[in-house]
Amino acid sequence: MKILIIEDEPALLVTVKQFLEGEKYVVETANNFKTATERIGTYDYDCILLDIMLPDGSGIELLKEIKLLNKKDAVIILSAKNSVEDKVLGLDLGADDYLAKPFSLMELHARIKSAIRRNYQKGETTIAFKNVELFPDDRKVFVGKAELVLNRKEFDLLYYFMIRPEKVLQKTVLAESVWGDNIDQADSLDFIYSQIKNLRRKLKESHAEIDFQAVYGIGYKLI
Ligand code: CA
Repeated sequence: MKILIIEDEPALLVTVKQFLEGEKYVVETANNFKTATERIGTYDYDCILLDIMLPDGSGIELLKEIKLLNKKDAVIILSAKNSVEDKVLGLDLGADDYLAKPFSLMELHARIKSAIRRNYQKGETTIAFKNVELFPDDRKVFVGKAELVLNRKEFDLLYYFMIRPEKVLQKTVLAESVWGDNIDQADSLDFIYSQIKNLRRKLKESHAEIDFQAVYGIGYKLI
């Protein structure tokens, strides 16, 4: 899962980034309106943490932009302005949640998990496709009753596919989601290829009823 933190307060940005990286998220940051606009326009995120008061613009305008672009990214507003008007405006504009500063990192994490669950997992805590079940909170995967042991990137990739079954996913989008926005394209595409190959082998060996289908020139889909 890839998260974008939009926050201009350096200490808070670093604290949240380090915490979320510790929780095994891929984390990208923007500390002003301009950078945030560029990132949102170029990349997709599973969850965006959005500060309202930025030095060169308003987070509310960024939220409008996200919705205008029809993006699926979950958005949680982080704001020192704990006014009812702000909260109502943000939620009316389509934000998934609102957290007033100062907040605890544990609560932030719970809100992120909840927003991702609502947005991508129909509110469920586990994701099932055929005889494979994935538990995001424990980072575990089971085929039937047997656990399938995956490394970190294999898990991240499978998770990304499991919430988007039967959808063709581009190699570049997969690479960005698992390795971050600034990956070396050529290297990462090789890496995607080898990770998918390993995943296919592990799934096959464990008699999973799911598999990856290569879509020539584009990427892969989970079938
Ligand atoms: Ca701010």
